Formats: sequence, C-alpha cells, structure tokens
Amino acid sequence: MSDNVECPKCGHANPLSAYFCVNCHAILIRRCPNCWHEQRQGMVCEKCGTNFALAAELAFEKSQKEEARVERDKMVAEALTFSQIVALPFTSVAGVVRGLLLRVVAGLLSR
Ligand SMILES: [Zn+2]
Ligand SMILES: [Zn+2]
Repeated sequence: MSDNVECPKCGHANPLSAYFCVNCHAILIRRCPNCWHEQRQGMVCEKCGTNFALAAELAFEKSQKEEARVERDKMVAEALTFSQIVALPFTSVAGVVRGLLLRVVAGLLSR
C-alpha cells in the first residue's frame, strides 16, 4: 500500500488527505450529507445507507423552492412599499389601506 490515493478518473497519485484530485479535480472523498461519514467509493453511504445522488437531488429541489419563495416574498414586499409611496401624496390613509387589501386579495387569488 502506498501513501497515495489514485484518482479514479485520471490515475493521478494524490495525497491521502486530498478531497479532490489535484490534477483533474475529480472527487476523491465523498461525504454523506446525512451523517457526514466520509468514504472513497460508492454512491451509497456505508454507514447510514443514504443515496448520495438522491440526497443531492432533494437538496437541490429544496433550495430551488426556497429561492423561488424568497423571490416572490421580496417582490410582494417591494410592490407593497412602492404602492404606498406612490399612493401617499394623492390619497388618504383609507385609500392606501384599501389598495393594500386589494393587493393582498390579488396575491391570494393568483397563488
Ligand atoms: Zn484526477
Ligand atoms: Zn451516512
């Protein structure tokens, strides 16, 4: 046994501590997203059985959804602020409140 780990992609000898191949940057150590167990081979965690590809897919989907939600909330908040600023000099407070209510209702309907 040597002190090096051979890259499965290009065959380059990397130090044992390397997470990525220094030559082609292929992943040498896979870390389980569930239990943080580190292993050199396989797509399934040796410890807890988590499927790495599936876990990555789920994490990606989740981040996509959260991003979309944050974006939407931000847009709604901006629209509300904008409508208030535009409406204030011309209408009464009651008018602003009515405008806000209309926007909330419209938001609920478009969901
Ligand atoms: Zn390599
Ligand atoms: Zn695991």
